[in-house]
Amino acid sequence: MQCPFVYASGRRCAGTVRQARAYGKHRFFEAGDIHDIKKVRLWCSEKDDHAGFGREGKERMEFYPDELIGLGIYDEAIAFCENVSDPPRQLT
Ligand SMILES: [Zn+2]
Repeated sequence: MQCPFVYASGRRCAGTVRQARAYGKHRFFEAGDIHDIKKVRLWCSEKDDHAGFGREGKERMEFYPDELIGLGIYDEAIAFCENVSDPPRQLT
């Protein structure tokens, strides 16, 4: 899965996502809890979690589910999360 981070210059990060974690109501999410995920943090092979990047004051590479859907990587990102068991769809 390619890192979705885009620099202010418009250049896309060349890294790949190596880790993802879901945040929300629970520490661990089952397939039926997917809608309780509020945020997903991604770590990439190049710049870790891109800590300190400035877009909208965000301090780390985190996405709301709506943003992931907008980027077209929701299923992929959720399936990648280390604390989501039995993802609804398989990685493609
Ligand atoms: Zn990256």
